[in-house]
Amino acid sequence: MNILIQHPALQAEIDKVAEVAGYLWQKGWAERNGGNITINVTDYIDDVLRTLPALTEPRPIGKTLPHLAGCWFYCKGTGRRMRDLARDPMANGSIIRILPGCDSYEIVADAPVAPTSELPSHLAVHDYLLAKGSPYRASLHTHPIELVALTHSKKWLEKDAATKMLWSMIPETRAFCPRGLGIVPYLMPSSVELAEATIRTLNQDYDVVMWEKHGVFAVETDILNAFDQVDVLNKAAQIYIAARNMGFEPDGMTDAQMRELSQAFGLPK
Ligand SMILES: [Zn+2]
Repeated sequence: MNILIQHPALQAEIDKVAEVAGYLWQKGWAERNGGNITINVTDYIDDVLRTLPALTEPRPIGKTLPHLAGCWFYCKGTGRRMRDLARDPMANGSIIRILPGCDSYEIVADAPVAPTSELPSHLAVHDYLLAKGSPYRASLHTHPIELVALTHSKKWLEKDAATKMLWSMIPETRAFCPRGLGIVPYLMPSSVELAEATIRTLNQDYDVVMWEKHGVFAVETDILNAFDQVDVLNKAAQIYIAARNMGFEPDGMTDAQMRELSQAFGLPK
């Protein structure tokens, strides 16, 4: 069964996921089964979908997330590759619904593909976004090469040091990633501590947070916008590295040029 055929708006969102998964692979940011995508698709669920039987028994989330009452998500499957998801998102991910009580879920479509092991962390972020009334519905975790490389130096882990440098490489970085790059010091992948630190850092007014020596976690209205934020920041890191490879430290835009940009575009920082 393919539930997307009768639901073009939902299909369009899943198509975006497949498009982004392809970009992640092409950019070398998604080795093996690296990276995760979850999308809150509740807005695209109609009465027909609501009556769909579950494909699996209820499964515990591991925590109670009260703002996810009645929510539906598309989630990358556990152990699945982005490059496979790009070809066939519904065979490498699944649609789940949160069950009453907000501490368990069941898989609804199209096949019983178990969601990513990072599901509790991703759902906790979605719960946080809904709690604060955010319009953001997409979350992305990936391993952008140059941004990860930056985090191997303490200099760039100081609060907003990387943000300021990246913003100063080309004006568009500040305009299109106006909240900059939050930093989360190294924590064990998949840990509760990492999930909590990620939410704490997002809450300090960032849309993209950097996990030291690991990767980024980005949230946005949809998955294309989440990808764009990471892409813009990583491009700036590549420009910095290109200048260093030419043998000099790039000057960067001046503080006055940055202030002028912020005022002209009405940016939040
Ligand atoms: Zn990772």
